[in-house]
Amino acid sequence: MKKIAIIGSGIGGLALGIRLQSRGFQVTLYEKNEKIGGHAYPLKKNGYTFDMGPSLITATEILERLFQCAGRRLFDDVKMIKLNPFYRIYFHDKSFLDYTDDSDKMMEQMAAFNRKDAKNYLKFIEASKKIHDVVIEQREGTRPFLTPWSMLRFAPRAVSMRAMLSTYRFACMYFRDPRNRFTFSFHPLFIGGNPFRAPAIYEMIPYLEKTGGVWYSKGGMYSLIRAMGNAFQKAGGKLMLDAEVNKIIIQDKKATGIRTGSEVHEADAIVSNADFIHSYRDLIEPSHRKKWTDRRLERIKYSMSAFLIYMGVRKKYPQLLHHTLILSHRYKPLIRDIFDCHVLPDDFSMYLHVPSRTEPAMAPENCESMYVLVPVTNLQAGVDWEHIKQKYAKKILDFLEHSFGLQGLQNAVEVLEIFTPLDFQSKQNAVYGSAWGVEPRLSQTAYFRPHNRSEDIPNLYLVGASTHPGAGLPGCLLTAETTESIIIKDLV
Ligand SMILES: Cc1cc2nc3c(=O)[nH]c(=O)nc-3n(C[C@H](O)[C@H](O)[C@H](O)COP(=O)(O)OP(=O)(O)OC[C@H]3O[C@@H](n4cnc5c(N)ncnc54)[C@H](O)[C@@H]3O)c2cc1C
Repeated sequence: MKKIAIIGSGIGGLALGIRLQSRGFQVTLYEKNEKIGGHAYPLKKNGYTFDMGPSLITATEILERLFQCAGRRLFDDVKMIKLNPFYRIYFHDKSFLDYTDDSDKMMEQMAAFNRKDAKNYLKFIEASKKIHDVVIEQREGTRPFLTPWSMLRFAPRAVSMRAMLSTYRFACMYFRDPRNRFTFSFHPLFIGGNPFRAPAIYEMIPYLEKTGGVWYSKGGMYSLIRAMGNAFQKAGGKLMLDAEVNKIIIQDKKATGIRTGSEVHEADAIVSNADFIHSYRDLIEPSHRKKWTDRRLERIKYSMSAFLIYMGVRKKYPQLLHHTLILSHRYKPLIRDIFDCHVLPDDFSMYLHVPSRTEPAMAPENCESMYVLVPVTNLQAGVDWEHIKQKYAKKILDFLEHSFGLQGLQNAVEVLEIFTPLDFQSKQNAVYGSAWGVEPRLSQTAYFRPHNRSEDIPNLYLVGASTHPGAGLPGCLLTAETTESIIIKDLV
């Protein structure tokens, strides 16, 4: 049995672990933290249950494929609940749109903003389907982009679908009202992308949502992670928790093992699911890195971070759905502030996750468990988060209570935990405290994204948000399929 060591138990690491273990490899996952899941981490306090990271589940067929690999069934192992509407988007003028898979309801709401936009909705969905078919049905999303040729083959199709445009420009081809333009261009933000430069390949997400739905796993996202951990262990995989890897050992240009503390663990192949820059810069000596030198790593563009408040609230807020977006009056300038100017502006847009709207048991009776996620600039900005985090949290809560209208919010808060970009850095080894890793922009997509097989060390592989095809639950599951196919080719 060939031994594989995976560094990190994020969604990508876990999924690859399940796949390789089920294929007959002996896989050990080494995780720095005391629980598996990476960004998908749980928090429980005073009767409130929170998911600290991902909350929206899409593309369940990709998850089903994963569970099938281990001879299991997703819908038996996890109680999945389909949400409808998927989310509510509040625009700054207090108008809102309930995003759903029901075309008539979507068109009716869009028509209230602009009648012609509503007529273009189905055309947009058709264009989104074309992109989806190439990425998912024709499997470009799981094809390893290891050579320039692979990119040359893909590029003409991408151009013909206008998938090289930014998602914002793509949405502008169909819609005029700024609210409709937002609704059909913001999806890259879910995976750390800037809608004004992330390629329209990500316009497949609206189609994925429309046809596959948006789901919730009973007990929260962590019940899905727990089920993945069980599937891995039941297949025979070994889990080492509180096991931070501090070195990938290279001998004769090959990876021979990893080191945790002073212990060495040998393996035939190593996979890193940890942050991309951390994996190379901190775990591999510079003399073994011809491509990924420190200078080259510094040139990689990293995505934004997030400021999160986890709140247990002794009150119900029916104006919030399970997923709610609340937007600032600024779209492009706010995105520019976050991604490029690296400043902390006065205004913010936010996403609220309130699972107790669907499953009241996520909070004590008549209470809400909620998190507020504000996308913020990463640590390249030099914001002193330790110093300002309480003030910034207060500003967000003041906005929610006094401007947005969650009456009595601050008096009703009985649990409050804050997570800043510094926590992403210290708890996840996320470089620059980025919440999504390598930014999904055209120059860092497909062949131009970090490869799933290391360019420097032949039996070192990568999986997870920063590899092809990218971040998000479906993205990371697909990275596991991509990396698995290369490992099988190389080792079997
Ligand atoms: C706040 C937030 C909300 C999100 N919401 C959604 C959503 O609703 N839907 C969605 O689809 N996606 C969402 N995403 C994106 C999604 O969560 C991520 O893309 C995905 O979880 C990343 O998984 P990954 O495989 O890259 O691993 P990561 O989650 O990055 O995990 C990497 C793991 O490696 C470990 N590690 C690091 N260094 C070492 C080391 N040296 N030794 C051992 N272990 C190490 C870390 O501790 C961590 O456990 C969200 C992300 C965030 C941050």
